[in-house]
Amino acid sequence: MRVTELSAALAARRAAGLYRHRHVLDSPQGAEVVVDGRRVVNFCSNDYLGLANHPEVVAAWRRGAEAYGVGSGASHLVCGHLRPHHALEEELAAFTGRDRALVFSTGYQANLGVIGALVTRGGRVFEDRLNHASLLDGARLAGARLRRYPHGDLKVLERWLSRGEEALIATDAVFSMDGDLAPLPQLAELARRHDAWLHVDDAHGFGVLGETGAGTLSHFGLDQTQVPVLMATLGKALGVFGAFVAGSDDLIEWLLQSARTYIYTTALPPALAEAARAARRLVQDEDWRRRHLQALTARFRRGAERFGLPLLPSPTPIQPLIVGDNARALRWSRRLLERGYWVAPIRPPTVPAGSARLRITLSAAHSEEQVDGLLAALAELAA
Ligand code: PMP
Repeated sequence: MRVTELSAALAARRAAGLYRHRHVLDSPQGAEVVVDGRRVVNFCSNDYLGLANHPEVVAAWRRGAEAYGVGSGASHLVCGHLRPHHALEEELAAFTGRDRALVFSTGYQANLGVIGALVTRGGRVFEDRLNHASLLDGARLAGARLRRYPHGDLKVLERWLSRGEEALIATDAVFSMDGDLAPLPQLAELARRHDAWLHVDDAHGFGVLGETGAGTLSHFGLDQTQVPVLMATLGKALGVFGAFVAGSDDLIEWLLQSARTYIYTTALPPALAEAARAARRLVQDEDWRRRHLQALTARFRRGAERFGLPLLPSPTPIQPLIVGDNARALRWSRRLLERGYWVAPIRPPTVPAGSARLRITLSAAHSEEQVDGLLAALAELAA
């Protein structure tokens, strides 16, 4: 676009119902937040276990800052790899049952880094059509030949794999805007048969799924020989920030040597790593959070069914309500906020055209009454 075209481009976005807005919070994350000066019930964060403001996590952050200061001072390979980062990596490896883990500053960077390190320029990358933007961007940045298969369509994927060239398959474990699970056991089998990498992004399953909260691979009983690359984030169920990749010794060593988004960026603040360690322990120890979250998810789905609300078949705390039209998604979100419920409208290009939705996310911090209140407000809107 030309410099003089910018205002018109913004106006066009607004006219299409695609304008994005930020709201300012004057409180910590939690079941209730203060937004635009009002206290409302929050159904749009990824703080699935309610740990973002947990006193033990906050205390660990404070202690970490007192012991290690606020900045890591450099990238990991120069002199920014502090004891808290190292301890966090060891604990994440043990928790996910993998040889080693490598902490990245964000999940976005982790996905870019892995794909760039494992795929040669012009190599093939196959991705589910509903994958997160960072997986798509990873393939683009790597100069890969990217092809996106229809959501969950393993027949198409198998046809592409059978051409025999080197390939990497990347998939969300829990699809971030739909809440459903990828068919990981079948994907693992396909990848093994075709000697292809399988890179699983468990941003939304880590902490939430699996007996101990170790994530979607643990839920399916898949180990590192079946799924060589596990990426998960620390900013969702763990309530903090950052991400990691876990896998074999060789994989982690290769990433440490060659993942550009690991090498050329400042390491996370060490205090943040201390907070993530505390949150990780809580994920494992306070399993009542996962049980409560599962019970709320079931309650929400039963209620939605009773009111005839069109839900997607999601077994996770991500419960999207498809409204189709962009303007209607915006309108409904505004009306819910007026009634005291904050739910994000999700529109293209984040989701396919014509499938604008209210992305409702449940958290262990919510009460049954809050979920029932949201259901009643949704039913009123849909009537
Ligand atoms: N993958 C998925 C599936 C995500 O939802 C997100 C966060 N929106 C990311 C990766 C990126 O993680 P981060 O926010 O740590 O950059």
